[in-house]
Formats: sequence, structure tokens, C-alpha cells
Amino acid sequence: MSTSLLYHAFGIRGYQYVRAEFEGAKVIFTIRGETGAFRCQACGSERVVRRGAYPRRFRTVPIGRRPVQIVLDVPRVGCTECGAVRQVPVGFADGRRSYTKAFERYVLDLSRHMTIQDVARHLQVSWDVVKDIQKRYLGRKFGRVKLKHLRQIAIDEIAIGRGHRYLTVVLDLMSGAVVFVGDGKGADALTPFWKRLKASHAKVKAVAMDMSPAYISAVLTHVPKAKIIFDHFHIIKLFNEKLSDLRRDLYREATEHLHKEVLKGTRWLLLKNPENLDDTRDEPKRLREALKLNEPLATAYYMKEDLRRVWEQSSKQAARRVFTAWIRRAETSGIRMLIQMAHTLAGYRNQILAYYDYPISTGPLEGTNTKIRVLQHQAYGFRDTEFFKLKIYALHETRHEMIGGFLN
Ligand SMILES: [Zn+2]
Repeated sequence: MSTSLLYHAFGIRGYQYVRAEFEGAKVIFTIRGETGAFRCQACGSERVVRRGAYPRRFRTVPIGRRPVQIVLDVPRVGCTECGAVRQVPVGFADGRRSYTKAFERYVLDLSRHMTIQDVARHLQVSWDVVKDIQKRYLGRKFGRVKLKHLRQIAIDEIAIGRGHRYLTVVLDLMSGAVVFVGDGKGADALTPFWKRLKASHAKVKAVAMDMSPAYISAVLTHVPKAKIIFDHFHIIKLFNEKLSDLRRDLYREATEHLHKEVLKGTRWLLLKNPENLDDTRDEPKRLREALKLNEPLATAYYMKEDLRRVWEQSSKQAARRVFTAWIRRAETSGIRMLIQMAHTLAGYRNQILAYYDYPISTGPLEGTNTKIRVLQHQAYGFRDTEFFKLKIYALHETRHEMIGGFLN
């Protein structure tokens, strides 16, 4: 061991190697600071006097599998100007940390490929040490996400765990990155986002979201020039829910045994897109039979298929014609569920047809939500909300350069 190895292997410069000791598997290097002119850490004055030293130990990168510690007596100086008594700063470690900067970098490198648990076990440090290093790194990187470039965004809420906790997530649809994570759901969750968006002077052109009155009024208030695009997956999902209700009502009202039997077990068939029906399990046939017996159900089912066509047109004019025709048929269908649906959708005509100005949806957020749930299943989920949010911001990065790593 030498002073130059100290520098090249452990990133410690300006200190002299004194001795090496071995404590079990541990390697302990004692080093000594070079005496130089100290300054007061509080006021910067050079008029300081030595006030003894404070012995400190730092974890640094291991040698093979052997943990390495650096031992150093850190001088303390008292200031004759302001009276402060402080340790002189150690160049190779931050503040009061018990590990070196080289150790932090090493932990971050390993974190690209390993879980927190793995890194902690490998380096024989606690889970919290690894987490804190990751958290500070992510905080520097994502603590202040820039919003200025935002043009098209998607907003949605995600349920976390079983405790009915929600997060509201805003995605930059151009980059795919999460740019905001709010606590809870509804308009309140977005308040800090609007504040920061305003300060950033971003020119948001389009917002994809669910048909939520709370979101609509928030967008109208905070980005009045942006177009609102109702996510078509959410609309079909809503339709499917109503379709399920209808089937359940019909089942309850059915008096004939055969009728009931046929309706039984058709729920999933009704919700599937027809192209996904499984031929080998007779699904198309079973669906046809159920529909044959139940006229209202058949009508509603085919109306769902028709509604999907609204988003499959070649122009906005064509879509408007399909939409208008659909609303008229639904209104005159005599089926309450369809009449209600027509009423709801007709009120949102602009936000539905705006898809032809900006063909965006909250679809990309679904993938993000899946990853958030994976994150949350890892032990730390909600123990440290701030850390959890930073991990969510880092998800996008994960996909590109840290496969697996920061997901863990
Ligand atoms: Zn001072």
C-alpha cells in the first residue's frame, strides 16, 4: 500500500498512508492528513487554532470481498473571529457520512444490476445505507423535474396497495417520462403540478385523460389553451362496466332456466373485443347464442363495437358522422343503459373528437402504472414516500440505461 495507491484505488487525495491492519475479514487503513492552512467552516476566516482531533472511520470500496475501512483523525479547529469549533472537511467523503464518495459511486454502479438487498448484503452494510445513497443520487437527478418542454401530457390516477391509496401521475407523452407524482387523486393531487407548470412557462397543447369532471375543470383553469382528449380506453371501459350491469340485470330478470344458463358465464365474452374471442373454447358460438336470446344485450354489445369505430376513422369529419349517428341510435334504442351512455358521451363530443387533432391517450401511462405496482411490491413501497416517488421518476431512465437496476 502506498499513498499513490490510496489515491488511485480509493480516490483519496492529499492524505498519507500510515498503516494497514486486519480485523477479521476487514481491512483497515489508517491515513494522516497533510498539515495545511485551515479555514473556519462557518465564516471562512483563516484565523483558526487547532482544537484537537476527532477520530472517524469511513467505509470505502472493498478489496475483493473484504470490506475496507479508512481511519482518520480529523482535525478540529476553533475560529478566533466567530468562535465556531468545527471539524475540517474531508475531501473524500460528504459531510458527516460514514462512507467515502468512492463507496457511494460503487453502490450506485452495483445498483444498476442488483436490488438494494443484494447490494447491502454484498457490501455488508445495512439496507438503509444503500437506500440513502440511492435516494440522494435520485434526488439530485430527479428532485426538480424540468417542465418547460412539455407539450403533450397524460394524466391518470393509480391505486396503490389495498389501503385505497392513490397517486396521480403526469406523463410527458413525447419522452415517455413521468414528470409529476401527486399524492391522492382528483383535482387536489395536481395543485403542485399546476403551480410548477405555470412557473416553467411550458406551452402545453394537449392533455389526455379520463372523463373526470375534476380533471376537466382543473385543465380549463390552469392550461385553458390546451386541448382535452378523452382517453378512448377509459370510455370503452366505462361502456363495459355498464354492459356488465345490463347483463346482470337481465340474468336476474330471466325466468326460463335455459335463458339463465346461456347468460351465465358470458360476462367476460361480452367484455372481450371480438377479435380476441377464443375459437378453441367455443367463445364466438357461446356469445352468439347468448346474444340471440337477449335482444337488449345484443344491441348493447353491437353498439360497443360500433362505438370503437369512432376512433378508427380516416378524418375528423368522418369520425363526427360516425359519432353523431351512434348517439342517435343509442338515444332511440329504447335501452336505458344506451340512452344514458349517449347522454354522457354527447356532452363530451369535443373531447372525444379531439383525438383527431392529437391522437393521444393515457395508454402509455398503463405501462408506467404496471411498473409502479412492481416497484410498490418491493418491500419499501410506502415506507418512504419521497424515495418511492423518486424511483417512479427514474422509471423512464431504467428502461434506457439501467435495465433492472433502479427498478429494484
Ligand atoms: Zn469563523
